[in-house]
Amino acid sequence: MPRPDTRRSEDAAAARAGGILTIDLDAAACNYRRLCKELAVVPCAAVVKADAYGLGVGRLAPAFAAAGARAFFVGPVDEGIELDGVLAAAGRADAEIYVLNGVLPGTEPDFRTHRLIPVLNSLACVERWRAAASAAGQPLPAALHVDTGMSRLGLPDDEVGVLAAEPGRLDGIDVRLIVSHLACAEEPDNPLNAEQLTRFRAALAQLPEAPACLANSSGIFLGPDYHFDLARGGVALYGVNPTPERPNPMRQVVRLQGRILQVREIDPSRTVGYGATHRAAGRTRIATIGVGYADGYMRALSNRGHAVIEGRQVPVVGRVSMDSLTLDVTELPEATVRPGGFVDLIGPDHDVDALAEEAGTIGYEILTALGHRYHRVYVGS
Ligand SMILES: *Cc1c(COP(=O)(O)O)cnc(C)c1O
Repeated sequence: MPRPDTRRSEDAAAARAGGILTIDLDAAACNYRRLCKELAVVPCAAVVKADAYGLGVGRLAPAFAAAGARAFFVGPVDEGIELDGVLAAAGRADAEIYVLNGVLPGTEPDFRTHRLIPVLNSLACVERWRAAASAAGQPLPAALHVDTGMSRLGLPDDEVGVLAAEPGRLDGIDVRLIVSHLACAEEPDNPLNAEQLTRFRAALAQLPEAPACLANSSGIFLGPDYHFDLARGGVALYGVNPTPERPNPMRQVVRLQGRILQVREIDPSRTVGYGATHRAAGRTRIATIGVGYADGYMRALSNRGHAVIEGRQVPVVGRVSMDSLTLDVTELPEATVRPGGFVDLIGPDHDVDALAEEAGTIGYEILTALGHRYHRVYVGS
């Protein structure tokens, strides 16, 4: 039975929104299966940190679980706690949840209560988890992270050496996974990829036997040498191109439509927006859209970004404001640009990567910056 009241309030919310963010769960699931196909027999974990790259972990994680994901990675422990609830509600309490940021002092009980698996990033972290296992009187699961070239998180070479020389430091720790992270995976010709591979193999040889996990989205496309026993697919699941030098093998997950608030003609030599950074060359039609930098439409897109109306690109002119942006729609027939209508800010003809390029950033940042004022619509199962 349709629920007319729900329907009506949904429609009302859509009618009020300055922008509509449509997230295609089928496309995301399809992207998960695409990574699995690339990996052949190696399983793929789903990286859902930062609220599934801004798209909503409550909807995306169950979609990946239904598509076959049995392991998930989050950033901080709070995200793990949230994901535990999401997966339990979806009947997927058996999935593994790895916490990339490791175990901070005092958070050990959270890991046990929510069956989270810490990624141990230093000897101090290893010691903390060993003590937790000792206090629990039972082995506790963990992943070990070795740093092979990021110099960010993970055990540096000397700490790997200490673990190799003093294996007792891992007493009570059930090492489920040994991970490392690639710095330049989206550049297949970068020599650092092969160097990291060599360093990772050397570290594995020194550590207890455990499944190994190296590749992120782009790493998956570097070929089977990088696949090991588990991959960690992130941004590609959400439609960003993991192979920037080649056509995008992933499906677009996001469509962002901005509402047309006003359309006006301005006289030649009038300026547009803060700082008067754009001056009309002739009579110009300006459409004002109800999306601004507070919604994650970055100010860097001022005078650089493009939107699409009925398949035609129109430029952002003037500075992006907090709640609005302005487009030069002079070239479009009047009937196609009407207040109340929509333009595509991200869509089939202008994808996340294209917008990121215009903003001088990466698709990751565009997605995770998407604000909370949009009316969100999830389509697909
Ligand atoms: C974010 C992250 C990933 C996922 O990377 P993508 O490039 O989004 O696929 C994998 N591993 C680690 C350690 C990460 O921080």
